[in-house]
Amino acid sequence: MANILQPVRGTRDLIGEDAARHFHVVETARRVTGLYGFSEWQTPIFEDTKVFSRTLGETSDVVTKEMYTFEDRGGDSITLRPEGTAGVCRALITNGLTQTLPQKVFYAGPMFRYERPQKGRYRQFHQIGVELLGPATPLADAEVISAGWRILCELGIAKDVVLHINTLGDTESRAAYRTKLVAYFSQYAGELSEESKLRLEKNPLRILDSKDEDDKKLVAGAPQMQDCMTSEAKAFYDTLLNHLTAFGVPHQHNPHIVRGLDYYNHTAFEFVTTALGAQGTVLAGGRYDGLVEQMGGPAVPGVGWAAGIERLSMLISAPPRAQVPVVVIPMGDTEAQALDILNLLRRENIAAEIGYSGNAKKRLERANKSGAAFAVLVGEDLKLKNLASGEQADVTAAQLPALLRA
Ligand code: ATP
Ligand code: MG
Repeated sequence: MANILQPVRGTRDLIGEDAARHFHVVETARRVTGLYGFSEWQTPIFEDTKVFSRTLGETSDVVTKEMYTFEDRGGDSITLRPEGTAGVCRALITNGLTQTLPQKVFYAGPMFRYERPQKGRYRQFHQIGVELLGPATPLADAEVISAGWRILCELGIAKDVVLHINTLGDTESRAAYRTKLVAYFSQYAGELSEESKLRLEKNPLRILDSKDEDDKKLVAGAPQMQDCMTSEAKAFYDTLLNHLTAFGVPHQHNPHIVRGLDYYNHTAFEFVTTALGAQGTVLAGGRYDGLVEQMGGPAVPGVGWAAGIERLSMLISAPPRAQVPVVVIPMGDTEAQALDILNLLRRENIAAEIGYSGNAKKRLERANKSGAAFAVLVGEDLKLKNLASGEQADVTAAQLPALLRA
């Protein structure tokens, strides 16, 4: 016998309760973002490699170590998308939408990163996310963050979650801060991790995000962005925090929040949970005003977030099982009438099933075991049986939809 074929390392099947959790997260996010006026887009799961290499920063972990990049049969370099923002911005430009603003985008789907698989970390994983393209005002940031908070509330996990928020300032503030950081970390260049030594030259802000313990000690004493902010950047941040209060989103200023990717400015935030033992980020994002321009489009400001569905699925309680169907049972040679009833119920949006074989007794036994609430017994008369109580009553076909919906 041939060997059984296995799933590729770092991928998994969504079946049963895993699937129910996953789709509950997606459906909740789709519904809530709809309330905020977002529309769903689906962009391709693979893009020209440059869509990511140009935007995520040549030195980011994602680009240097984690991308699924390959040459296709035509010799083009293709990459399976590691995140959603770059593709949405590419789509905004190539669909000619940069003059039709704002665009409020929701997406959900698979992402791919070549990482070492472990609990909650996969090579194909899934994200939900939003992008609000066009407005440069802090109200846009507040709407985006508020939608994320609302989703966490509706998923029942908000009680363990805190919003950590920071500002990276505008270009001017960032340049001033960069100079200060370089001066500070250069004094300790010998003590920095190898990775952070490189960051010191290429992107010193990234050192603030370092996971290295010795780096973290140096980071604790580093100069703060606050001291380099222009008054405009400061006003932007203050207004955003006021809007968040108005929207009822609890928040906490955290100067160490810098997003991993290069294209962020002004707002950076993470919703962090304490429910997984160690701190875990469940939803993260920020403002990226330079990104669309960097991709060759006009200057279109943007703000958004993404959240890993696998991580959210681990935090929520199991969603209620799908509506238990009605089982239709032919009590003799009545299959034709039974099929009519089945058809009627489904047309009326009532979930209904029929056994594929067996006599009436067998079918009734199976209906009882299945957890169905009702059986419709189709014999000479039509009977509706409540499977929990065992009660049954004569009914007409016309009465069934109303009785079963009640
Ligand atoms: P981490 O520090 O956990 O690697 P990240 O900074 O790479 O996260 P982002 O690029 O901000 O993550 O992606 C947003 C979310 O996507 C994360 O908070 C996480 O929930 C999820 N995520 C990222 N990589 C994976 C993965 N390999 N498997 C499952 N979920 C992932
Ligand atoms: Mg990562």
